Amino acid sequence: MFNKLCEVIERDRIATNVPMSTLTTFKTGGNADIIVSPQNNEELKNIVKLFHEMKSPYYVLGNGSNLLVSDNGIRTPIISIGKAFSSVEIFENCITAKAGAFLSSVARKARDNSLTGFEFAAGIPGSLGGALVMNAGAYGGEMKDVVEAVSFIDPSGEEHIVTCEEMEFSYRKSALSDTDCIITGATITLEKGDVEEIDKKMNELASKRREKQPVEMPSAGSTFKRPRGNFAGTLIENSGLKGRTIGGAQVSEKHGGFIVNKGGATTKDICDLIEVVRETVYEKHGILLETEVKYWE
Ligand code: FAD
Repeated sequence: MFNKLCEVIERDRIATNVPMSTLTTFKTGGNADIIVSPQNNEELKNIVKLFHEMKSPYYVLGNGSNLLVSDNGIRTPIISIGKAFSSVEIFENCITAKAGAFLSSVARKARDNSLTGFEFAAGIPGSLGGALVMNAGAYGGEMKDVVEAVSFIDPSGEEHIVTCEEMEFSYRKSALSDTDCIITGATITLEKGDVEEIDKKMNELASKRREKQPVEMPSAGSTFKRPRGNFAGTLIENSGLKGRTIGGAQVSEKHGGFIVNKGGATTKDICDLIEVVRETVYEKHGILLETEVKYWE
């Protein structure tokens, strides 16, 4: 695999034996055998075509803020959509950004250009690609509200551009969820606003987050999806699970919907705690929580 990859991308774009604890916000997980970091669409297409020919599965990594990686590490090669894919450009009220751009950078750029509508995403610590594939959202906003078009590469290396409608966004889901397609960028349409108002809103949402969420501890944000007509955090807290600990993993004392790594947690600790939470909430409330976090092994 390594030698084949060297034929389509420079050697220094391929990292081996990388601790996933350094690339995930949970700060857990074993080593990844291979992480390849394409610098542009052409390189990305060549890598995908190679994996396609070799019938090799692959993972796509954004900012690692919604991931749990097995303590045994990852044998499947990982394609990292990182810094090389982070440009953000503005034309009138449209933003064209690449998939590796941080949502916070997109939000700042929107604010600096007096564009409103993206404030909700400023505090989500993900990449644009990661946010689009799962229709990330917060404080009443979702990616689907602002996206005009999305570009992606399919598993055979073909490029596509689809509209917001074609993305079939729904709660934490899109048409590209659970596919091997790789998002490369998007166009976002916003409205003209007042820079001070936008800044004020971003600051208000940031303080709300700091007040309610354990943002100072490693986690992947909300561990569970919101069950219909309910809140995972409330169900967990009402089940007496706040503060429940297994190894280094803990149901946050600040917000029941977050499992945090309070120091030295393994992925197994977190997964075991997830199971305890699911079982307990099911016993007490008859609701089976579904994880929002993705698991890689
Ligand atoms: P990753 O974690 O790298 O990947 C997640 C999934 O997306 C994987 O399946 C991966 O394969 C896929 N993926 C990533 N990039 C691409 C791409 N370019 N093309 C195709 N697939 C891709 N989420 C919310 O929705 N709302 C919140 O308010 C929120 N708050 C959070 C707060 C904290 C403190 C933390 C740690 C997380 C929070 N999250 C929240 C979760 C997370 O930030 C989002 O889910 C984010 O969209 C994940 O993006 P990422 O780039 O980190 O994706």
